[in-house]
Formats: sequence, C-alpha cells, structure tokens
Amino acid sequence: MHWVPVAALSDNYIWLVADDEGNAFVVDPGEAAPVEAALKERGWTLRAILLTHHHADHIGGVSDLVREHDVEVYATDDPRIQPKNHFVADGDIVELESPKASFRVIAVPGHTRSHVAYYGEGFLFCGDTLFSVGCGRLFEGTPAQMLASLDRFADLPPETKVCCAHEYTASNIRFALTVDPDNDALRRRRDEVARLREEARPSVPSTLGDEFATNPFLRVDSDAIARWFAPQAGNVDDRVERFAALRRAKDTFAA
Ligand code: ZN
Ligand code: FE
Repeated sequence: MHWVPVAALSDNYIWLVADDEGNAFVVDPGEAAPVEAALKERGWTLRAILLTHHHADHIGGVSDLVREHDVEVYATDDPRIQPKNHFVADGDIVELESPKASFRVIAVPGHTRSHVAYYGEGFLFCGDTLFSVGCGRLFEGTPAQMLASLDRFADLPPETKVCCAHEYTASNIRFALTVDPDNDALRRRRDEVARLREEARPSVPSTLGDEFATNPFLRVDSDAIARWFAPQAGNVDDRVERFAALRRAKDTFAA
C-alpha cells in the first residue's frame, strides 16, 4: 500500500491510501480540493471514503468527492454524518474491494459520542481520538469513556501506524514534558518533531509503540503520571481521576 497524509484546512491531515494500481481511499476528507490535487498528482482513482466522526473538518469534502467520483462512503449511524451509504458499528469488518483491504471498526466514544477508529493493514485511523503525544478534547464524552476508548488500542501491534487527523504534535509535546519531564523517549520525540517541522514535514504517522512510550494519555498507569498527579486533590490510585486531571490540565495549557 502507498499512503500520504494530505494537508488540509489549517492543521488537518486527510489520509490517502492506494494500491499499486492506484485504487485509493481517503479517511476524513474535511475538504475536497487537496484530495483532488493529490489524486491527480499521482494518477490515483478514488474508490472509498472512511469517516471517523461528524465534525466539519472531517466530513466537509465528502459531498464534493461523492459528486465527482464513484465512491462508497463508510460511517457510523449518526444523522450528523451525511452523505454515506454504509453504516459501520463496533466490531464490524469493512471489506474494501478496491483497493483490497479490510479494517476493523473500533467504537471510541469520548471526543464525540459516535466516533469510531479503523484498524487494519498496519494502519490505525483514529481521527480525533488519539493524536501523537495527545488525545482529543472531550466534547461529548466523559474521561472514563475516553480512557476506555484509548485502552482499546493497547492490544494492537506496536508497529501499527497511528494515522491521526491533526498536526498537533509539537504543542502536545510541550504539554507532555510538563507532566512527564524525565521521559527520554519523549525528549527524543521532541527533537525528532522539531527537525521534521523545521523541514515542513508531517510529524505523523508515529507508531503505537512510540505513543505508548511518549503519550501521557496512554501512560496514566505509569509512575511518572502518578508522581505528577500526587500533589493534587483526588485519589492517586484512581486511573480515571488521573486521566481526567491530565485532560483538564491540557485543556488549559497555553501551548
Ligand atoms: Zn473532531
Ligand atoms: Fe478534527
């Protein structure tokens, strides 16, 4: 499979994936024009669209793409996501004919209540649930829900490519260093991301292994996060409280 994160809007990535014959699918096309340009540049043909959640920066380009291409659109049964022609739900396997690929649907409520991720072919398309060194804001879910959603990624292979939907990594790292300052893997990631961004290159995809080593929201059970949490009001033994405190701290962090 060939893949590219197509930059869109202010800081979105639209993941575009194709086989050797140029049969392609996209994930979360928030706008159509950059997808059209990327397809044209490579001579690829769009065959399918996968959607993770209803926010405009993830579905804004779908109508235009559907008008121009003969595509199948996969999304959850949420009326806020239109247009679509295939409903997906937790545990479903999405079988694409062209490119030949299959993805497991993982329900990951938290950022929104109907958010899903797609796992398969070595990719995790996680929308705004998991970012590199961060996680999505809790617009429609509780900390307990979001933590349970992130926990569902723990069993996936560490080499899985984490294909998130935003370039937020540098500011996520600035926050992460305030809660996990002695983490060598995190410091290495900071240096790597600084280099990539200086060259105007994407900081993603990372791997799940990288994320479990550096992402504070996946490290709520680590000694480092317990140490950070300890001076605060709350039960240090409660991982949901630790997670909620992290998310609150990030919400008010001046990036
Ligand atoms: Zn979103
Ligand atoms: Fe988004």
